[in-house]
Amino acid sequence: MQSGAPAAIAAGPDEPVAASPLHAAYSRLVWDTTDHALCLLDPEGRVAAWNPGAERLTGYPASEVLGRAFAYDDSPAGSDGALTAAREAGRYETDGWWPRRDGGRFRARTVILAIRDGDAPAGFAQVIREAPPPSEEGGEIRAVALILDLALSTMSQGLCLFDADRRVRLINQRFFAMFAVGDGDALVGTSIEALWALALCGPGAGLRDGAALLAGHAAPLERGEAVVVALPDGRAVALSRRGVPGGAFVVTFEDVTRQREAEQEIARLAHHDALTGLANRAMLWRRLGESAADGTVPAGSALLFLDLDGFKAVNDDLGHRAGDALLRQVAERLRRAVPEPGLAARFGGDEFAVLLPGRAGELAVSLAEGLLIALARPYGIEGQRPRTVTASIGIAFAPGGTTPDAMLREADCALYAAKGAGKAAWRPFTPALETERSEERRLEHDLRRAVEAGELHVAYQPLVDLSHGAVNAREALLRWTHPERGAVAPRRFIPLAEKSDLIRALGLWVLERACRDAAAWPDAARVCVNVSVRQLGDGSLPRAVGEALARSGLNPWRLELEITETVLSHGGTGIVDDLQLLHAMGVRISLDDFGIGFSSLARVRAFPFDRIKIDGSFVRDAVERPDCRAIVGLVAELGRRLGIETVAEGVETPAQLAVVREEGFTEAQGFLFGRAVANPVPAARAGT
Ligand code: C2E
Ligand code: CA
Ligand code: CA
Repeated sequence: MQSGAPAAIAAGPDEPVAASPLHAAYSRLVWDTTDHALCLLDPEGRVAAWNPGAERLTGYPASEVLGRAFAYDDSPAGSDGALTAAREAGRYETDGWWPRRDGGRFRARTVILAIRDGDAPAGFAQVIREAPPPSEEGGEIRAVALILDLALSTMSQGLCLFDADRRVRLINQRFFAMFAVGDGDALVGTSIEALWALALCGPGAGLRDGAALLAGHAAPLERGEAVVVALPDGRAVALSRRGVPGGAFVVTFEDVTRQREAEQEIARLAHHDALTGLANRAMLWRRLGESAADGTVPAGSALLFLDLDGFKAVNDDLGHRAGDALLRQVAERLRRAVPEPGLAARFGGDEFAVLLPGRAGELAVSLAEGLLIALARPYGIEGQRPRTVTASIGIAFAPGGTTPDAMLREADCALYAAKGAGKAAWRPFTPALETERSEERRLEHDLRRAVEAGELHVAYQPLVDLSHGAVNAREALLRWTHPERGAVAPRRFIPLAEKSDLIRALGLWVLERACRDAAAWPDAARVCVNVSVRQLGDGSLPRAVGEALARSGLNPWRLELEITETVLSHGGTGIVDDLQLLHAMGVRISLDDFGIGFSSLARVRAFPFDRIKIDGSFVRDAVERPDCRAIVGLVAELGRRLGIETVAEGVETPAQLAVVREEGFTEAQGFLFGRAVANPVPAARAGT
């Protein structure tokens, strides 16, 4: 192997070169046999001579380095700086890293001497001695290792300690449990690249893969950030690196697969409804916003809002699991019906929405028609007879210039109108609907202060005993005289009050007033007070009734509470408790508007009713329509069987009176006997 021995070596700038044959032989001996790596550089820093010691230490044969600038300290700048320093000072000594031909590195002390030929620089001589690791550095690693040893066995993370040469010094048990990498002792001394390949790159990976992976994550790791590596086996492992004084460092490995999956699931859930898998409100909102890149929804787009009619009854009757099953089937039918590129979403509860972006909006009406039919088909629920619900649909169209906000509001407004129009229908949004809606809001606002303003009063309508014609009871009916509008019908303002909690305050006001008025009547007629379902279920009504009775001195059995059939479909235990409590106090309970709701006979028996009032619509038609007459007869029969009294509402003509009497009703109410009046007592006297 050619080693390019120099003719002479000068040791310092001031010593003249002695060019004797002896000197030359001596030089060659030193050059060839010393353990030190020696190397001569020309004035430009290129290798001019390279001794066997240098070959042994670096692994590079002279042939590969002669004539090249041999960089050390990881960067050419490192060697350049050292040469400049040596040129200026004559001698420069440094500790640094040298590359090895096998890809490794070694730490060495390098002495650089500047060589001069007279005044002109002739080059440099370098003496390279491999430095043993500084003793205090080794001591620190040992100390750290000791402390770590204690913690290591109990850690939930895998851990590797690397020395300053980036070779494995220590690995804990958890690491071996996480990665199939053989046994511990064999790995000590392995380079970080090799370990990375073994642990993180999967079977068959080599040093190159390890180095590439390492390079990809080096920067954030150096900054102390955690890096998540996806393993070929599907796991996700979080790596983080902490430095130890002296150049060593620790890398921890944590299996974050579950956490990753949870994060992905959370991200999915953030945009999907967990129950049905449809998009959720947030997703629909995002798509609507994306379609409106310029702030307005593209002309032609349509948004459908859907709400199920009668879902609550299914939910209350059959339980939440059955309700959920039904909602999933609704979602499935929606998914199948909505054309590309439409988006079906669940808004929560039994509310759904469909976005038909751009030209797809043309399909809105036919989709709505189709959905009304598809969603009204019976739903099979495990262990139950098939149930039906219907849908109400509101549609908003974007004529151009509509914002996503306005679109949602308009679809909602149209849905409200569809519900108001008797449900199981679709309605398009029109500006008139919005006017109606704001009109309602104004009315509700006025109603809120009607009590204090003294605009409310109670009127009483008689209920007559059909066997002897006496006034048995009077129904308290709320009246509102609006300062500008005049009399507002209860059919208009009661539903408004029932949408908010306002009905509770109004109901209590009527109760209080009715008890006081009835206590002053000269006869012993009952007073019937309408109670909204919103007043029931939390125990507050029995308390309020107790107080009203105590304050007025009215006998409990003279008070009758009228509850509509919808109470039966709510059916919460709180409601039954309240009714039972009221019953125990001696108060009567009657079932109002019977026949128009969803009541089943079984449910009627579950509540302590004293009376059933058949809805006026059946009575009105009973004379002409046999089917209505049949229902009137059935209700009377039901009352007799259950031992419950029956009241016929809405009796306006003698013919109607004849029918209800014939069918065996016990009481009747209607314009034939008298309308509701503010002060009923003279009428009551006249009747007796
Ligand atoms: P309702 O409980 O079914 O009350 C009977 C309604 O039928 C009353 O209407 C009454 O005036 C009307 N009516 C009575 N006899 C006849 C008749 O022969 N022919 C016709 N066509 N109608 C008759 P009103 O007073 O307009 O009340 C409407 C509804 O408002 C009531 O229906 C009741 O559900 C509700 N309501 C009234 N006052 C209150 C109240 O204080 N609290 C609650 N929660 N609801 C009330
Ligand atoms: Ca009533
Ligand atoms: Ca009624």
